[in-house]
Amino acid sequence: MSDARPLISYVFPIYHEEGNIDLLHERVGEAVATVDVDAEFIFVNDGSTDGSLDRLIALSERDERVVVVDLARNFGHQMAVTAGIDHARGDAVIIMDADLQDPPAVSLELIREWQDGWDVVYAQRRTRKDGAFKRATADLFYRVLGAMSTVEIPRNTGDFRLIDRAVADQLRRYGEHSRFLRGMVSEIGFKQKAVLFDRDARHSGTTGYPLRKMIRFAIDGITSFSAKPLQLISRAGLVVSFLALLGMLYAVGVRLFFPEQVVEGWTFIVTAVFLVGGLQLLLMGIIGTYIGRIYDEVKGRPLYGVQEVYRDGERRLGRRARPGRAD
Ligand code: UDP
Ligand code: MG
Repeated sequence: MSDARPLISYVFPIYHEEGNIDLLHERVGEAVATVDVDAEFIFVNDGSTDGSLDRLIALSERDERVVVVDLARNFGHQMAVTAGIDHARGDAVIIMDADLQDPPAVSLELIREWQDGWDVVYAQRRTRKDGAFKRATADLFYRVLGAMSTVEIPRNTGDFRLIDRAVADQLRRYGEHSRFLRGMVSEIGFKQKAVLFDRDARHSGTTGYPLRKMIRFAIDGITSFSAKPLQLISRAGLVVSFLALLGMLYAVGVRLFFPEQVVEGWTFIVTAVFLVGGLQLLLMGIIGTYIGRIYDEVKGRPLYGVQEVYRDGERRLGRRARPGRAD
């Protein structure tokens, strides 16, 4: 164990949050002051066109713990968080929305669990104060994602979570462009734990996630973690081929046993249509399987992540003594 106070990096993605920044900084500042840790506040300005950047710069002049990362344009929430994690120097990183929907007090619970030895502590919503439409679409999304995804991604969690330095370093090895951070963190593994909380309503301003962005995000989430849609083609191909076989038998049967009902050339055309349709889907499924593999490879994800190495009966690599832990 060590006596040094741990450094906690808070990462806040900022897109048109001028009405929230000062209050957020104040509330989070008050919260971390009650625990025995040092903090840095990394605000990532994601191409805001309102007064957000000016507020942030003013804040960084008042508080030396504030770091402002100003992105060159709007890259989207997931990229903003990625940039924040890349600039974080803490022993642990907390990702939080800037609109005060994620209560600062909950971040203290995340820190406590981290000090108890958990590597990823994600905040899971017990309740949320969004509209009925947002709730219904979010619910549907998590259902579809759960059914399709190869890694288990916890339901009702956003990006509000704490990750240990080791996890942050592993995350930085993920170079994929369409990023679905909560899925990536699930895939990374390590010791993960949920903390339940009640999500508040947005304090000021409007959502930076209109329906268009939400759909795009949902598609990113599903396609980044599942090749199931491609496999569905193969399955559909099998079903259609089987039905086509029945259709062909029917067409040939009618031709043989009820020739008077058959229009000239009908049997050939119908058989050809069934045969070719079934074959096409089947072959597309095969191509789809290969595309799925190509996709897996081009994502270039790290092959594995090491949590600990035990050698000569000792821990040599992996977990450093976690600062500030009373053990
Ligand atoms: N955000 C961002 N870039 C964007 C959209 C949103 O950095 O293009 C930030 C936003 O400032 C907030 C967080 O991502 O801190 C979550 O966005 P928002 O609250 O608008 O989403 P919602 O809570 O409505 O899903
Ligand atoms: Mg919000």
